[in-house]
Amino acid sequence: MSEPQPKKIAIDIDSTLHDYWPIFSRIAKRRFGIELAYESQRDWAVNLLRPEQSAVVIEESHSDENVLGAVPYENSVDAVNRWAKAGHWIHITSHRSVDAYDASARWLAQEGYVYDDLYCSYDKITRCVELGVDLLIDDSPVNIAKALEVGITPATLVHPWNRDICEEEGVLCAADWMGLSALLDQRLMPRATAGS
Ligand SMILES: [Mg+2]
Repeated sequence: MSEPQPKKIAIDIDSTLHDYWPIFSRIAKRRFGIELAYESQRDWAVNLLRPEQSAVVIEESHSDENVLGAVPYENSVDAVNRWAKAGHWIHITSHRSVDAYDASARWLAQEGYVYDDLYCSYDKITRCVELGVDLLIDDSPVNIAKALEVGITPATLVHPWNRDICEEEGVLCAADWMGLSALLDQRLMPRATAGS
């Protein structure tokens, strides 16, 4: 039985490595008095906010304080580090402005994520193609669709906004990191240790 070859894995941060929605909705409520219920967020676009309001909320959500205060999803650190240790190349990629780069790097270090590269930008898939990424873990249905188009395997935690695309063939979805790592270990880990 051949061992899995080293892969290039791109991993998003917000709503992938930590629970971003409570941060976003708390700021929307405080700044604009708008309630954004997680379960009601079935589209990628936040329709209850005007675009300029959305931009304000996103910017504040990526302040140093908010970035550094994020709590990793349970089992996410262990899974990422297990893949890194197995020889896979880990590219952390976030739809954050470059202003949030330093805080993002500090957060990854403070939480103990092992990774090779951090990228904050608005052209995630372009960069993934340039790097020859094999697998993208990202909750955005837009990025999942683009990954499928360019031949990158998409995987995600299931959220209300990506439930529809999770039904599509070739999209690997799980409710939590325990499930996601079990799914991905089948592709990434030597058989002797997969799932252990
Ligand atoms: Mg995300």
